[in-house]
Order: sequence, then structure tokens, then C-alpha cells
Amino acid sequence: MERTCIILKPDALKRRLAGKIISRIEDKGYIIADARMLRLDEAILREHYSHLVDKPFFPDIVAYMVSGPVLAMIVEGENAVLGMRQIIGATHFEDVTAGTIRGDYAFNTEQNLIHGSDSKESAELEIERFFARR
Ligand code: UDP
Ligand code: MG
Repeated sequence: MERTCIILKPDALKRRLAGKIISRIEDKGYIIADARMLRLDEAILREHYSHLVDKPFFPDIVAYMVSGPVLAMIVEGENAVLGMRQIIGATHFEDVTAGTIRGDYAFNTEQNLIHGSDSKESAELEIERFFARR
């Protein structure tokens, strides 16, 4: 059984979309194995988004991600990492397709409602970061 780290971002909670998004995850056949509400800070975001810290838009990502609580989840199931990335949808707004979570609910690249680990290695690091260590 594979597991992945999913985070419902502040806009998902502010827009009251958590229930709909969790339903999509469960409809796919995955299990919510653990969940916790967190308030992220810049330090943990510099780790979590280390591949983006040098981008000009990094301060905007931090402002967005600390703008309210997030719901971090451990999602389990067959091929959970790739399967979740498929139902989440593409990173860039111009590539997003309808039928995905981002395609159906987000309207720009930044405020895209949901994070999903991009590999099994990232998933384990992120589960450690958001569940074991805090
Ligand atoms: N992001 C952004 N502009 C970009 C790329 C990313 O605002 O050009 C934000 C967006 O919220 C994205 C997050 O930074 O979800 C992390 O980017 P990543 O490339 O890891 O995309 P993801 O794995 O979330 O699809
Ligand atoms: Mg990513």
C-alpha cells in the first residue's frame, strides 16, 4: 500500500471546498489514514517548497500559504502518489484540464487548492515533516 501527503491549502478551507475535495479522494478509492489542521510558517515553507525559494514569486506563495489554516492528510491506496497527482491536475493553470480538482475549482496557478507529493520519496519526507515532527 502506497501513501502520499496531501495538503488542502488555505483557499480550499476558506471556500468551504474541503468536503467536496475529500469526497473526490474517497471516490477514487483512497483512504484518509491521518489528518491534522496546521498553520504553516515561512520556515517550514522554505523546506517544503525548497525548489522554489529563489523564484520571484516565492514571497507570494508564502503569503498565500500562511493566510489561514491548512488540512494535511496522509492518503493511502494503490499508486497513491501518481493517482493523487492525476486527480489534482497540472501545476500551471494553462495546462490544467477540466475534471481535475484544480481544473474544476481553481482559477490561477498560485491559488490551486491542494498539494500532493510528487514522488514516493517526497511523500515520506513530507509525512515526516507535517506529521512526525510536529
Ligand atoms: N506556484 C506558483 N507559480 C508557479 C509555480 C508554482 O504560484 O509558477 C505555486 C503553486 O501554488 C504550486 C506551488 O507553488 O502548487 C508549488 O509548486 P510546484 O511546482 O511544486 O507544483 P505542484 O507540485 O503543487 O503542482
Ligand atoms: Mg510540488
